[in-house]
Amino acid sequence: MDIGKKFRLEGKKAFITGGARGIGKSVATAMAQWGADVAICDRNIALAEQTAKEIALLGVKTLAVEVDVTNPDSVNKMVETIVNNFGTIDIAFNNAGICENANAEDMTYESWKRVIDVNLTGVFLTAQAAGRVMIKNGGGSIINTASMSGHIANCPQVQCGYNSSKAGVIMLTKSLAVEWAKHNIRVNCISPGYIGTDMTNVDDPLAPGWKAVTPQGRLGSPDELQGAVVYLASDASTFTTGTDIVIDGGFTCI
Ligand code: NDP
Repeated sequence: MDIGKKFRLEGKKAFITGGARGIGKSVATAMAQWGADVAICDRNIALAEQTAKEIALLGVKTLAVEVDVTNPDSVNKMVETIVNNFGTIDIAFNNAGICENANAEDMTYESWKRVIDVNLTGVFLTAQAAGRVMIKNGGGSIINTASMSGHIANCPQVQCGYNSSKAGVIMLTKSLAVEWAKHNIRVNCISPGYIGTDMTNVDDPLAPGWKAVTPQGRLGSPDELQGAVVYLASDASTFTTGTDIVIDGGFTCI
């Protein structure tokens, strides 16, 4: 098959958690531009509905689904709703995440738990629910959002819970890739560096320091993650599983 065609996603059914805004919205838009029907899953249902409406203008089917990725019942209901509307799930982009900064010695149990619950348990629950559908259907592609923070400890902000959660996502990705290879399910992750979104504000007082230690000298934009996720979602990456694509302007090289 022509290599260009292998990247296309026509006929594929995808969901994106944290899809209402930021990286999730950008990637959902790219998947739709490449032909996939997309379910925008987020705890902010009003914004998810608005994003789903915008993306529908590209001519694909879209759906907005309210979900709290930390809650197994909510995740199972999300997957049921998507299957009822789309018939199946071929692509899962487990991307919802939060960040909380605190000195380790002062961090509350609740803050540690919130971050691990959303960033690691949430990715496990959504991957598990999608995996069950994909096992029945003979395969699929799961992409998780980790972070360069799963590889390095960020500075000067202190966020041991966030960094640990993202390192966990990288190992969860490898574990699921090995376990589910026999089901024709590929599991990969991306590790973005500093990307301008609501989470990492380009106007943050720390941004000049982040740019100074990034070889490319700037923050990335969510659109600069689209290509990697579309590649991992598509038939252009059929022998790629258990890998992590670091997209950080060179940050982790120095
Ligand atoms: P945003 O804060 O812009 O978007 C995150 C989205 O996830 C929001 O819509 C948020 O909803 C939703 N969300 C949060 N918690 C839950 C939950 N429990 N259930 C369902 N949805 C939830 O973040 P980004 O787009 O920047 O980040 C997306 C992912 O990329 C995250 O996993 C993040 O850790 C990761 N990442 C981001 C980087 C960056 O520099 N921006 C760098 C590396 C990784 P609500 O509005 O309710 O909060």
